Amino acid sequence: MFNKNNEFLIIAGPCAIENKEQALATAKMVKENGLTYFRGGAFKPRTSPYSFQGLGRKGLAILNEINRKFKLKIVTEITDPELLKVVSENTNIIQIGTRNMANFSLLKKVGRRTAKTRQWVILKRGFSATIEEWLLAAEYIYQAGNNRILLCERGIRTFETSTRFTIDLSAIPVIKKLSTLPILVDVSHGTGHSDLVLPMAKAAAAVGADGLMLEVHPDPHHALCDGQQSLDQKAFKETISAVKKIIELENRVVI
Ligand code: PEP
Ligand code: MN
Repeated sequence: MFNKNNEFLIIAGPCAIENKEQALATAKMVKENGLTYFRGGAFKPRTSPYSFQGLGRKGLAILNEINRKFKLKIVTEITDPELLKVVSENTNIIQIGTRNMANFSLLKKVGRRTAKTRQWVILKRGFSATIEEWLLAAEYIYQAGNNRILLCERGIRTFETSTRFTIDLSAIPVIKKLSTLPILVDVSHGTGHSDLVLPMAKAAAAVGADGLMLEVHPDPHHALCDGQQSLDQKAFKETISAVKKIIELENRVVI
């Protein structure tokens, strides 16, 4: 997918695919900023069963349309092994979320399927998982036959309440020491606040991450999911250009 030595991968998009209009407007923002990977949840693992759960298969169809219309590659989350075939047929990269990092049967099934389809898998760090537990979870995918694994630090739970989670930036150099897998930082879920995304994105780039995950929305105040941490058009543009400056200093390129 990407050469982690000189490419810096930025995956951006809304938390959830809410409807066609919102999804296409967000895809336009992602494309206009020169990025190549679009994220969006069709099946959302929500803490509350009363929260918006995603559009399901309808959301996958919208992602498919974005892939065709905008030539953007798609990243979406798998929440249930029963959905593996349909999710993998409608995405380029399969995401395993923080709540499923230790769902070992899901990891094995995703590993077996993606070994055949040769798809990359994003494995988010469980918000209560140590780095060792996270790397062992990655081994389940590896053992099932796929070494195309992208780790994603997305914040861990600490006693701090001024941020939604605490981004463990030291995880990046630690992972670099222990593993050859590329590592992304999700600075949206990691902070929970859109105004903290830019400084933490710069920090992640500077500390040696291989990429970022960002939530963006054309109208964050009306988002059905994670609006408070989603960048609007202006903040998104500023974030990409600030990160690019750091990446280019290191002779790397943003993709
Ligand atoms: C997401 O990326 O939309 C998501 C739910 O992330 P996490 O699993 O990190 O909470
Ligand atoms: Mn989200």
